Amino acid sequence: MPGDSAVNFSLLHRTCKLVVLLCLLHISVTVFFYVRSLDLRFAFVQNQQSHHHNVTAATFTSRTESKVEQEVRQQEQPRPGGKEEEPQKKLEKCPETSPLLVGPLRVEFNIPVSLQQIKKDNLRVQPGGRFRPADCEALQKVAIIIPFRKRDEHLKFWLYYLHPILQRQQLDYGVYVINQDGDEIFNRAKLLNVGYTEALKEYDYNCFVFSDVDLIPMDDRNTYRCFSQPRHLSVSMDKFGFRLPYNQYFGGVSSMSKEQYLKINGFPNNYWGWGGEDDDIYNRLASKGMSISRPSGDVGKCRMIRHDRDRQNEPNPQRFDRIAHTRETMNKDGINSLSYRVVSVDKLDLFTKITVDVGRP
Ligand code: BGC
Repeated sequence: MPGDSAVNFSLLHRTCKLVVLLCLLHISVTVFFYVRSLDLRFAFVQNQQSHHHNVTAATFTSRTESKVEQEVRQQEQPRPGGKEEEPQKKLEKCPETSPLLVGPLRVEFNIPVSLQQIKKDNLRVQPGGRFRPADCEALQKVAIIIPFRKRDEHLKFWLYYLHPILQRQQLDYGVYVINQDGDEIFNRAKLLNVGYTEALKEYDYNCFVFSDVDLIPMDDRNTYRCFSQPRHLSVSMDKFGFRLPYNQYFGGVSSMSKEQYLKINGFPNNYWGWGGEDDDIYNRLASKGMSISRPSGDVGKCRMIRHDRDRQNEPNPQRFDRIAHTRETMNKDGINSLSYRVVSVDKLDLFTKITVDVGRP
């Protein structure tokens, strides 16, 4: 019947319209969520990189600097890197808490990173791994000392994550990798003493951060600076289930002002192999009446890069005996008895590498 076919046709027509409308709705929802996910990914990349001087704590908005602007800024910024450098222009002091901090960070080690990429991401870092904020005067001059031997892959991750963080923390800093020459047994604390001495030859640092190469903070509010008491920074490591293994634990990453370090005669030079030297440092601090300052467990979270035990760094069987006698030994074993031979000093793009012969047990 012609009337029936007209009704059928109009029903079909309405159904088709509905289907088309539903498809359009589906496409718009898909496009909306896709664009939003792009925004989030972009924000994450911003979080990881150092193009963040415009990033505020509350937002992830950013401005990409033109090449010309970058050049002008680089010309304006005095180049750190030696006692001969020009005095910094009189700037206002940086605030106590940097407004550039973003809080918790994603830290992963499954994708390898390249030095070229890290360099591109950190154009403001000067040769030797030096940086200072361009628009305010940093509150502290921090030398970061990393004891090292044959851990190049770990060092790349360290540089990848730490340079952007340290810049956001508005520190005047330099990175010193103290590489133990040869294949003798490793001596972490002696390398730290060498780092302290060598960094001071280069710049008037007033704060020293001592960091293992395989430890990465998971929150940029964990500022790599000094406090009124010696600071333990790596307080909740994934390796220990994000908690302190014991109250006196002072290993991993710590910081001390020049005064605090000198008060304990620096670190012991005679802990060869793994373990004990950090407990000795704790004993030194405690014996001089100092206490340990720490960030909260949340802010102090950090990840350790998993690895096998290094060769020539087996647990030191003498460590228990040595730790028991810190008070008697600390005045004659420390920065006042340090001896070593510098093999080479290389000012690389992202760090200063100092290779040293520290002798043998
Ligand atoms: C060692 C320390 C080490 C700590 C955590 C202690 O027994 O003496 O050097 O940092 O264990 O592994």
